[in-house]
Amino acid sequence: MNSSTPLIDAFGRKVTYLRLSVTDRCDFRCVYCMSEQMQFLPRSQVLSLEEMQTIAAVFVGLGVTKIRLTGGEPLVRKDCVSLVRGLSELEGLKEITLTTNGNQLAQLAKPLKEAGLGRINISLDSLNPEKFHAITRTGQLSQVLAGIDAAVDAGFDGTKLNAVIMKGRNDDEIIALAEYAVSKGVDITYIEEMPLGEGINHDRRESFMSSDEVRSRLRERFRLQAAFENSGGPARYYRIPDTQTRVGFISPHSCNFCHACNRVRLTAEGKLLLCLGNENAIDLKKLLRDPETTPQILADTIRNAVYYKPERHIFNVDEQVSIVRFMNMTGG
Ligand code: SAM
Ligand code: SF4
Repeated sequence: MNSSTPLIDAFGRKVTYLRLSVTDRCDFRCVYCMSEQMQFLPRSQVLSLEEMQTIAAVFVGLGVTKIRLTGGEPLVRKDCVSLVRGLSELEGLKEITLTTNGNQLAQLAKPLKEAGLGRINISLDSLNPEKFHAITRTGQLSQVLAGIDAAVDAGFDGTKLNAVIMKGRNDDEIIALAEYAVSKGVDITYIEEMPLGEGINHDRRESFMSSDEVRSRLRERFRLQAAFENSGGPARYYRIPDTQTRVGFISPHSCNFCHACNRVRLTAEGKLLLCLGNENAIDLKKLLRDPETTPQILADTIRNAVYYKPERHIFNVDEQVSIVRFMNMTGG
């Protein structure tokens, strides 16, 4: 096998998609993602831009065609635009995407587009300033809405909103969020809350709302037509006729998408996670920082690790915490 042999696991799934967590830090503290008092990694433990670039080049050499930058909040890292620019020079990489809370997009949307960013996902859980502030604990809705406008103006290949729906917190805004997406001509995905992290200050058994329930609510207002195109991700999509908007549902509890999983995650501290819902990981930072390590050694290590990608994740809302990692550590 040489470094160009593709990444295939023991179940025959080909890995072509890397989610790269640029930082574990964030300017928000969303209630479903972080506790109020978070301990972040010391900077020396976080991969440098050059290390991320090296690892990304190895993954692309192994057949990865799509990289999503995520976090924590990727845009709190000042050098994120240069990272996008560096990645855009990798031959074989077809798509660079970003998931952001939108807080800094008013300034950064245009530079990101110019650096080569293709698509963007922006989290938006509420259109009510007080509720938005309560969910994010620090966020200002007006700033994020300005960021969404800047993304629309920048003209990305795709702009999508992500909303985590929680009963009693924002389930009364399901329709308003879709109407907002339609008014901006962007897509929207509703995400079931996942049991990641500990010290989260609400009972997930009470807040959990299934994609089926969200879909029923939407059907009170919109006609949803099943869309057959594949987004390459775990979402199931519907079209709202006579609009630009597609509505997606990510349902880790009610719909198991593992059989088609094509992705792995790299945490900000260089741990390669083979599955969002399992703890197994390998430490690529240690290898990267060893002067004896060549790109071939990195490639062989990654290929061997991917072979052991778990068959499926198991999330259970009745267990308050399945996975101790927080979502910001994981790279959501
Ligand atoms: N900070 C960026 C953002 O919020 O978009 C990127 C990182 S965030 C961890 C990525 C996505 O994960 C966001 O859409 C967020 O809503 C979602 N997320 C975080 N914690 C979650 C949880 N426990 N269950 C489901 N989705 C979650
Ligand atoms: Fe930050 Fe994103 Fe987590 Fe919210 S979901 S706390 S914005 S990393």
